[in-house]
Amino acid sequence: MVTREQYLGLDDSKLVNFKDASNCMSILNADRDAVKALALLCEDAYEHGFELRVASAYRSFYKQFKIFDDKFKGKRVVLDADEKPIDISNLSDEEKFNEIRRFSAIPGFSRHHFGTDFDIYAINLLPEGQSLQLTASEYQRGSYFYPLGLYLAQSLQKFGFIRPYNGKGLIAKEPWHISYQKKAMEFIKAFDINEAIEYLSSFKEPWVPYAIEYAKEHYKELLA
Ligand SMILES: [Zn+2]
Repeated sequence: MVTREQYLGLDDSKLVNFKDASNCMSILNADRDAVKALALLCEDAYEHGFELRVASAYRSFYKQFKIFDDKFKGKRVVLDADEKPIDISNLSDEEKFNEIRRFSAIPGFSRHHFGTDFDIYAINLLPEGQSLQLTASEYQRGSYFYPLGLYLAQSLQKFGFIRPYNGKGLIAKEPWHISYQKKAMEFIKAFDINEAIEYLSSFKEPWVPYAIEYAKEHYKELLA
């Protein structure tokens, strides 16, 4: 049974640390079944010429809150719809919120709280000196992760993964975000919007009321 603390990213005690031989995962906080499936995916990817690495896995509520809040305060880069950095300092609080939520989950409403979702990339395809962007443009035809995108489209399902953010919903396209669907669904089923709102409401940052309004209306799509 998935608890409120678990789906809100407040309890990681059921998650495991894992290090596989291929270095694909180094040490993660993750769901046990998701990690097993990820190890198999990494192996298969390696055989197809992709050295997968995990850029990001479990994120706690507080980590996600800090990411959101740092963006709001201008301490962290915010990207526009074309994935270009924008200056949000002159925007209203509500406008700032709307820019940030395009690429950052509202704390309490992230699949990264579950331990079943991973942001991945292929380290051997990243050009030397190029830092990882985690942008959709890296996956466009002609760009370095294009072949990885094709491989993932063909292979993820075999290992129980999906890519929930295909750009058709409210969240911008995230070709790097994979989700171990069977387990993630247990979290989504247990998710209670009222509990999530109540917890988020206990924080007083100026963007929180906008986040609550938005989440109330769209939470089903946010967790997709
Ligand atoms: Zn992600």
